[in-house]
Amino acid sequence: MSMTSHSLSSGIWNTADLYQNAVAQLMEAANTMKLDPNIAERLKVPKRALVVSVPIRLDDGTIKVFEGFRVQHNMTLGPGKGGIRFHPEVSLSETAGLAMLMTFKCSLVGLPLGGAKGGIRVDPTQLSRAEAQALTRRYTTEINMIIGPDKDIPAPDVGTDGRHMAWMMDTFSQERGFAVPGVVTGKPIEVGGSLGRAESTGLGVVFTIEHAVKYLNKTGKQKLTIDNSMIVSVQGFGKVGSIAALEMWKRGARVVAVADYLGGVYNKAGLNIPELMKWFEAKRTLVGFPGGDAMSNEEMLALPVDVMIPAAIDGVITDANVGKVNAKIIAEGANGPITNTALNQLEERGTFIIPDVLCNAGGVIVSYFEWVQGLQNFFWSEKEVNEKLAEVLDNAFAKVVAQKEKYNCGMKTAALIQGVDRLNKAMLLRGLFP
Ligand code: GLU
Repeated sequence: MSMTSHSLSSGIWNTADLYQNAVAQLMEAANTMKLDPNIAERLKVPKRALVVSVPIRLDDGTIKVFEGFRVQHNMTLGPGKGGIRFHPEVSLSETAGLAMLMTFKCSLVGLPLGGAKGGIRVDPTQLSRAEAQALTRRYTTEINMIIGPDKDIPAPDVGTDGRHMAWMMDTFSQERGFAVPGVVTGKPIEVGGSLGRAESTGLGVVFTIEHAVKYLNKTGKQKLTIDNSMIVSVQGFGKVGSIAALEMWKRGARVVAVADYLGGVYNKAGLNIPELMKWFEAKRTLVGFPGGDAMSNEEMLALPVDVMIPAAIDGVITDANVGKVNAKIIAEGANGPITNTALNQLEERGTFIIPDVLCNAGGVIVSYFEWVQGLQNFFWSEKEVNEKLAEVLDNAFAKVVAQKEKYNCGMKTAALIQGVDRLNKAMLLRGLFP
């Protein structure tokens, strides 16, 4: 058979920008590190995907069918790991791209886990609590055959949280006849969650910013200190953005702007983040917060800052607005917030990017701790969790910087190289079956 005839792809994976960006990042890393093309060929596509219909009865009595997905990208290093996203843009291709990023993220930070992702194409803000519960439970049943504590372990992502994980854990456990807490992570503490998990992604973002500041000061590229002289903007005020903003605020930085898709707030002297959190908790929007002036999302992206933390959704910094972005450090709290071409422009301009697979890895690292604690039925203090999180991220940051210096490349490519390198070695050792 000729080379082309058997490697033709129908392109089912390839439709979402996020997937195309993930593959382009992989190929950039592969070319830079001179990766065996046979390994790159295998990593460009997921191992398997399950597409499910999720019918539920809405509160008005009608039945509606939602599209659901679970994609397992690579499970060489261990069970699949990755969140469940509830968002109107979820698709098979986007989920596959996010699963691919999970593979590199888990590998990069040294976890014994593969990469997976799931999602339902739904606007969660339109669901009642009962509808959200029905959707989560039916989805869990539909993907039941491919998840499990030693197969594939879901967690929260955009649009889901501990409540959804408790419903998933309960549904899976009801079907088995006994409690199986290890099937999901990001659970509430009462049903086997880990202390520190809810804050871990945002806290990890801030740990990586601390490392970036140290690195830039050491190399003489910037002179920055995390105190009142540091100007910070944050996009998104959910599980990641709010905690990242709070942790920067606690360290004395001036968080001057926070915005999300509904609008944002600005205060030159710095926003009072605990007050903003109380406001957001009550109103579910930043708009109208009395401790600052109104600011649109686009205005926030153009604000001159030391550190920008895009922590909402993918594809927010693009060729169309990158020219206006004026930040010394961009910490990718979200997965894929900067498109590849925009990212190249930023790196050329000297912006220091903390790539998503490193920057937001705190979440999956503490998910791993939760899974380990659950399997041993032995739980750690929050202090222990956070110390271990810091240790894993210290190591990972140092490894990425070492790859950056070895290959003289940007942080994004360096992070991918670190992720792919470990995986490559494991894939070569395991070989190709049959
Ligand atoms: N959804 C998070 C991520 O994108 C966490 C995944 C997990 O904990 O498994 O990394």
